[in-house]
Amino acid sequence: MATLSSTLLHARGLAAWYGAAQILFGLDLYVGRGEVVALMGRNGAGKSTTLKALMGMLTKRRGEISFLGHDISRSEPHHAARLGLAFVPEDRRIFTDLTVSENLAIGRQPARRTEDGLKVPEWTPERLFALFPNLGTMPDRPGGRMSGGEQQMLTVARALMGNPLVVLLDEPSEGVAPVIVEQMVDMILQLKNHGVSVLLSEQNMNFAQLVSDRAYVLEKGQIRYHGTMAELADNDEVKRAYLTV
Ligand code: ADP
Ligand code: MG
Repeated sequence: MATLSSTLLHARGLAAWYGAAQILFGLDLYVGRGEVVALMGRNGAGKSTTLKALMGMLTKRRGEISFLGHDISRSEPHHAARLGLAFVPEDRRIFTDLTVSENLAIGRQPARRTEDGLKVPEWTPERLFALFPNLGTMPDRPGGRMSGGEQQMLTVARALMGNPLVVLLDEPSEGVAPVIVEQMVDMILQLKNHGVSVLLSEQNMNFAQLVSDRAYVLEKGQIRYHGTMAELADNDEVKRAYLTV
């Protein structure tokens, strides 16, 4: 388990609302350097809302969020992005009229230097095509002519063009074909090897277990369980209560 000294992203007492409806109730969570962390829970538990709240995409949130030592509790999403926090939403928002290469070019941000000299991977289309072999075979294909799974990959690849340190990945395996799921697993493990951290949301154990070091389990906007992925996998009681098994 990561020690707090290597923590990149840390939320304390995170709460969030849609209008008058409170959805998140005081979450404490952290993501360490090079860690893959799963945010688990059934449909409606608050996974997507947590990722949006961390990124600053909700109009009303409370609590403390620090990223690389910066207080981003009140930051706009573009500010968090500039610091190296990336968000890949559930709905794949690629530009359907643009090609794969053009979509990637839009995500490009300058190379990153951190204050402590931490090395941050610098992505180019060539390096991303090695990570996503499927995309490498179709650099000139318009986004609108790709399958849902390919679009999902392109969304992730475009986020990486911003050279992030932490990627918030909302349900990467949802509704995509098994061959794409395999590539997603591979991609996440390679990101980890490159020193990029991932906080992913996931409903069931199979995908999460293949990639994650730790897990938080959410229900009704509260964290009901936190442990290593191996501990969660062994905990039938928690899985039965809060997850789809
Ligand atoms: P999950 O991602 O775990 O399936 P969400 O974070 O999407 O859960 O949703 C958590 C709760 O917030 C649910 O009760 C859902 O109905 C509600 N919710 C989600 N999006 C909105 C929205 N835009 N407006 C109002 N309520 C919402
Ligand atoms: Mg969701």
